[in-house]
Amino acid sequence: MKIVVCVKQVPDTAGGVKFKPDGTLDRSAMLAIMNPDDKAGLEVALRIKDKDPEHVTITALTMGLPKAYNVLREAMAMGADDGLLITDRVLGGADTWATSSTIAGALKNMQYDLVITGRQAIDGDTAQVGPQIAEHLNIPVISYASDVTVEGDYVTAKRQFEDRYHIIKAKMPCLITVLGEETTPRYMTPGGIFDAYNKDVTVWGRANLDVADENIGKKGSPTVIAKASDKVAKGKGTVVTPDSAEEASQYIIDRLAEKHVI
Ligand SMILES: Cc1cc2nc3c(=O)[nH]c(=O)nc-3n(C[C@H](O)[C@H](O)[C@H](O)COP(=O)(O)OP(=O)(O)OC[C@H]3O[C@@H](n4cnc5c(N)ncnc54)[C@H](O)[C@@H]3O)c2cc1C
Repeated sequence: MKIVVCVKQVPDTAGGVKFKPDGTLDRSAMLAIMNPDDKAGLEVALRIKDKDPEHVTITALTMGLPKAYNVLREAMAMGADDGLLITDRVLGGADTWATSSTIAGALKNMQYDLVITGRQAIDGDTAQVGPQIAEHLNIPVISYASDVTVEGDYVTAKRQFEDRYHIIKAKMPCLITVLGEETTPRYMTPGGIFDAYNKDVTVWGRANLDVADENIGKKGSPTVIAKASDKVAKGKGTVVTPDSAEEASQYIIDRLAEKHVI
């Protein structure tokens, strides 16, 4: 069984988001980490491999700048068998359509039974790429997945909704998008870190991809980010302790009137 896990290198927004004067993210000013949902996705793959290590192989795939190489090393130190870096200037500035077209263009030249992505990336935050890849490859997708099991040619997973979940079964080849909060990833081991430096990372460029020119990079991106800005932290709220319900409702009415809401 061949599993391909899509891992994205993202800026660590926990330390605050830095922007360039043109409003785009200043990625060089922020620590680069593996997208948290993708680490959970990798953990799902590793748990499938734990059950059948002889017959399951895991390839970690990333599209990005050459420095995205580092998330592949981390993935291999966690237990992935090898890595594939898709990097080429013409692929830069991609929106989700171009990103998913590019990744699908790589997968069309690879063998896979199960493709795993995170539910979403903490920078673009669109949650679009996973399902888009499945569309390009015309394979079933189970999104918001957790408790993933494999039996024969079928994957079964819990598909989360806000107030309930469904148990969904899909025939492979298929794609799942994994919820970070539902699956706790294992740590890299010292041995794993050591081994990772002996494992192969394949580097692919535009020529290795089965995708049309009009669907890659900035030119192939129907969506352009006009401006991105950090969330403005709201001021501290006011705490009031009215003596009665009447006083409380009067207080609210006065505030709403003040703001010309009523
Ligand atoms: C602030 C901001 C807002 C943006 N808004 C939009 C927008 O509204 N529309 C738009 O089209 N683009 C948008 N982008 C661009 C978008 O970030 C890129 O297109 C990006 O490559 C994919 O989208 P995403 O980050 O939302 O990924 P998501 O769709 O959230 O990612 C889902 C999963 O797909 C996989 N994946 C995504 N990118 C890669 C990769 N490069 N390598 C390997 N696996 C990957 C990962 O497993 C990830 O968990 C935005 C970018 C920023 C920084």
